[in-house]
Amino acid sequence: MQLYNTETRRKDVFTPLHSQEATMYCCGPTVYNYAHIGNMRTYIFEDLLARTLRLSMPLKHVMNVTDVGHLVSDADDGEDKMEVATAREGKSAWEIAKYYEQKFFEDFDALHCTRPTVISRATAHIPEMIALVKTLEEKGYTYRTSDGIYYDTSKFPRYDALVGRSRLEGLKGGARVEMSEEKRNPTDFALWKFSPKDKKRQMEWESPWGVGFPGWHIECSAMAMKYLGPTVDIHCGGIDHVSVHHTNEIAQSEAATGQRYVRFWVHGEFLVLRAGKMSKSGGTFVTLQTLRDKGYDPLDYRYLCLTAHYRTQLEFTYESLDSARKSLQTLRRETAQAVSAAGGQHASGQEAALQQAKARFRAAMEDDLNAPKALAAVWDCVRGNDLTPAEKVDFLHFADSILALDLFRAPQEKSEELPEAVRQLLQQRAAARAAKDYKKSDDLRDALAAAGYRVKDTSQGQQTEKIK
Ligand code: AMP
Ligand code: ZN
Repeated sequence: MQLYNTETRRKDVFTPLHSQEATMYCCGPTVYNYAHIGNMRTYIFEDLLARTLRLSMPLKHVMNVTDVGHLVSDADDGEDKMEVATAREGKSAWEIAKYYEQKFFEDFDALHCTRPTVISRATAHIPEMIALVKTLEEKGYTYRTSDGIYYDTSKFPRYDALVGRSRLEGLKGGARVEMSEEKRNPTDFALWKFSPKDKKRQMEWESPWGVGFPGWHIECSAMAMKYLGPTVDIHCGGIDHVSVHHTNEIAQSEAATGQRYVRFWVHGEFLVLRAGKMSKSGGTFVTLQTLRDKGYDPLDYRYLCLTAHYRTQLEFTYESLDSARKSLQTLRRETAQAVSAAGGQHASGQEAALQQAKARFRAAMEDDLNAPKALAAVWDCVRGNDLTPAEKVDFLHFADSILALDLFRAPQEKSEELPEAVRQLLQQRAAARAAKDYKKSDDLRDALAAAGYRVKDTSQGQQTEKIK
């Protein structure tokens, strides 16, 4: 398999370090708010990677849950995002973490992302983080300021490994502007932060340096190395993690172990809105629930993500989601037709055309996860005459083991697709319910009934049924 490695800046052939299994660490959600569909794009690409790797090797996949220590600013100031949410919602930080973690996994499962082998919460690994900071201290990489224990980046020569020398200079310039007087270098970062003297934090622990909490970067280093050893085959995340989070992970881990931390750095590009960045903290975000409320199925969104390569930006629009939904419906209808035409006959798996089609699909995925090309192979298979119906069914089972689009789900009849006017009524009703305007919501229910659709409110959002 070829994978683009952010560190080497090219596609390299991937083989695992240990033949018995490949190892992969993915930065998980910060659970202080709902995940938005941009976050979910990253987990979908990581799932495609996991599924593709598993075609040829066992894989140990670890993902963390950041439930403490991620500060509002990446530059180690500002409050912990969890504590900010506490003030916003009037719940304890622990309750908030539990709630949003559960919501996150509901979306993760609905998008058919495979559950990682290990899911590790930061708050359950404080001793490992403290031990790692201690090792760095013993090796002379740390210093103390009034608000924490910091990492001295000038002592680590490979600090530019991911971003390159010239970009690093630019980043330093930016960081210098906001740099606290106590920091030795603009890129230095906190390993352990002290609790503020005037305020009791909800999440804090004893440490050899004083009561406080871990820095966000040390969390991932400690958990990745605990479960996967000092050298991890693949480390993934969104593109925003390259210049600070992952750069700092390399510095801490390699200074502590003296070994290469990650062999392949794989980063997914962002999902963007026409209006600009989608951000959890900025409040301008679309969640999977928003899409459900508008009558979309989570897998419509998964299909949309598969239409773009993971290293290109994808602009989210409802028009593109509509066309993804249509394509997925058509693909399910084609699949159902192949099943019915096969009439219970099975391919042996040895047929040359079938093997060729599978090889084409697999080659696309193994070429740095070229999902759009793999999808094109699927369309050629269903539309073309190269395969018999039984062979098509076999091929579609194989393709769906990677794409995970539920291709064998009973398709909606064309006539069952919702008319535009009905979809608009559903959207208005979702907005009314979100605003707790139940009178309006009931009026819209009546309007939908008049248009021929009964609406039910479920945990998956509004569901419609045509009134016979
Ligand atoms: P967070 O929960 O904010 O720590 O982010 C979870 C994951 O989503 C990380 O891998 C981020 O890099 C990624 N991410 C954040 N925003 C976007 C976006 N707009 N598009 C794609 N991935 C994103
Ligand atoms: Zn991380």
